[in-house]
Amino acid sequence: MSTRKPLVALLSGAGISTDSGIPDYRGPNGLWRRDPQAEKLVTYDAYMSDPEIRRRAWRMRRDSTTWRAEPNAAHHAIVRLERAGVPLRVITQNVDGLHQIAGLTPRKVLELHGTARTAVCTECGARTPMAEELERVVAGEEDPACRACGGILKSATVMFGQRLDPAVLADAVAITKGCDVFIAVGTSLQVQPAASLVGLAAEHGARLVIVNADPTPYDALAAELVREPIGTALPALLAALAEG
Ligand code: ZN
Repeated sequence: MSTRKPLVALLSGAGISTDSGIPDYRGPNGLWRRDPQAEKLVTYDAYMSDPEIRRRAWRMRRDSTTWRAEPNAAHHAIVRLERAGVPLRVITQNVDGLHQIAGLTPRKVLELHGTARTAVCTECGARTPMAEELERVVAGEEDPACRACGGILKSATVMFGQRLDPAVLADAVAITKGCDVFIAVGTSLQVQPAASLVGLAAEHGARLVIVNADPTPYDALAAELVREPIGTALPALLAALAEG
């Protein structure tokens, strides 16, 4: 006789990707918040109204180290949990795509802030691989326009001043309400609405585990707090979960 495996929801933030060499860009103390000039590159109104901002943004994307980053031990541990047959959904604040590159089934990943690996037209909504648009930039186009309609292209990330995709957020809320275990990893839980999912999970009876180096506003709700480095702590935690 087998017991039902717990439904696991895992919320990941910038801290899960730092071992892959990706800095925290958009957290409360992230790079973008500390540099007003850099913040403009990812602020919707500035991006849409100023071609020079767009040219700088495209150079930033072209030169980003994200494209060379590889998944780390924490990303791989989550894939092992999925392969162990544990029903799992990942809600991520990251735009780096490393969960999917590690091998997680793409439909199991909800990207709250979108993805940097896709470009989207602000006019017609056409989506293309970012790599294709970056090839145009490398070839000399400083601000490549949509090939379908000539509209302004941006990365398919949620810029400052843009709303989260309501469908993605609704999915995240449903998953959070229905899970048995909610694990928040590498997130300071200071960016809404992602952070409020943690409170929602606890309210709906999930066992809350927080894995983060620093204290978060939700620590008091947690059944388990893990302060050890994510790269070692998460694999151990998830291996225990997989065994039941
Ligand atoms: Zn277009």
